[in-house]
Amino acid sequence: MPARSSSLPFPSADVPPAGVVSFEEARHLVEQHARNISSVGVESVDLLPALGRVLAEAITADRDFPPFDRATRDGYAVRASDVAQVPARLEVVGELKAGGLPDPRVCVVGPRQAFAIMTGAPLPVESDAVVMVEHTALVNQNRINQDNDDNTRQPDEQVEVLRSVNRGDNFVPRGSEARAGQPLLDRGHLLDHSALAIAASVGKSRVQVFRRPRVAVLSTGDELVEINETPGPAQIRNSNSYSLAAQVHLAGGEAVQLEIAPDEPHRLRALIEEGLGCDLLLLTGGVSMGKYDLVEQVLSELNAEFYFTGADIQPGRPVVFGSCRAGAPARLLAAPPPSTQPVPTLDRKYFFGLPGNPVSTMVTFELFARPMIEALSGMKRKPLIFTRARLKSEIRTKMGLKRFLPAILSGQFENAEVELARWQGSGDIAAMARSNCYVVIPPDRERIEAGEWVPLLMR
Ligand code: AMP
Ligand code: MG
Repeated sequence: MPARSSSLPFPSADVPPAGVVSFEEARHLVEQHARNISSVGVESVDLLPALGRVLAEAITADRDFPPFDRATRDGYAVRASDVAQVPARLEVVGELKAGGLPDPRVCVVGPRQAFAIMTGAPLPVESDAVVMVEHTALVNQNRINQDNDDNTRQPDEQVEVLRSVNRGDNFVPRGSEARAGQPLLDRGHLLDHSALAIAASVGKSRVQVFRRPRVAVLSTGDELVEINETPGPAQIRNSNSYSLAAQVHLAGGEAVQLEIAPDEPHRLRALIEEGLGCDLLLLTGGVSMGKYDLVEQVLSELNAEFYFTGADIQPGRPVVFGSCRAGAPARLLAAPPPSTQPVPTLDRKYFFGLPGNPVSTMVTFELFARPMIEALSGMKRKPLIFTRARLKSEIRTKMGLKRFLPAILSGQFENAEVELARWQGSGDIAAMARSNCYVVIPPDRERIEAGEWVPLLMR
């Protein structure tokens, strides 16, 4: 096995002996390193294509939100004190619809008066609540004067209010969501549909976002062929480069697929060096204990530092995390750099050696590589989100590893239940495609009964 560096990791983090660590330690190490890295630049893009990107500027309210006291119901704008005793009969003196600006000289609710008002319309002066139309009865026919553009009505219409309201009911006061100038979205916010709505509502047709980090994807293995080739009897198509490229994209990166690396150190090394030209390098395969698992050896020759070389998880135990100087001199089997001479931060690149088994590749990407890509994308730190569901049928496992097992969550709301996908192990991508989550099993459990609530990591 290659020598492990125990020198200071870059830029700085707790220093565990590189080796096999628990899931929590592995995740903690990745997060520590992720916290110290910077994004890869900023660009300006149109609003809709910014979906899924990370904001590089704060977005502030350009005016009060809402900009006026906004009715949230169709009904009548009233003085709440007038309808404290119900039923109460009020004179309807006008009508306000969304988009109509009430003239403050004439749109005034006097004592025992009301304005008919529609959802989204500004409240008239002196009203302090809206009574829902469902809680009223019109006494006279609607006699609105359509030609009268000051929103007032003939004063012979009356409404009977059947339920009382409190001051402040059924409208949102001006500026209560945000005051002009207040931040609505912070730098580092992931632009989802609701964030796009905010940007749109303040008139941002273009936004500053962080550039997508370039993430090299390097699959290794003599048995692999490109997907447009016909595999020989003992060959398989390189699917990992595709699942990984897709996951990289979904995590906010831009995947750079490299050629397949053979299990041969010189070509593997050349491709690793090429990959280190990107912002992050993801390797798959070649990190187990086999004679031809050369990834760690070649990375050691490139003076890599390893932060962990395995995690007590299943699937994905052989996962490797480290950093390496980009364009390191070609010294075969060189010793790791002494800890007194840390290599400058700037030209070091992080890498993950993900296990080659396709399900392991996908799981370890989600658990470890994703936070690094998110950090390179300028995203604020995001914890793994777990949920819970009732287990449909008993699970038996061996103790010792934290397991993230492909599972199927089904049923609705309070009847939701989860069961493991039947699978043939970490190579079973068909089972993976059928599943929609992972059941998480702690290392100290060997039996989980049907009906127990189990943690889930959603896909
Ligand atoms: P390794 O981690 O190199 O020992 O590979 C473990 C298993 O995953 C082997 O059965 C490989 O054939 C398979 N494998 C490795 N890389 C890939 C890949 N890029 N696409 C699909 N399967 C792979
Ligand atoms: Mg291999």
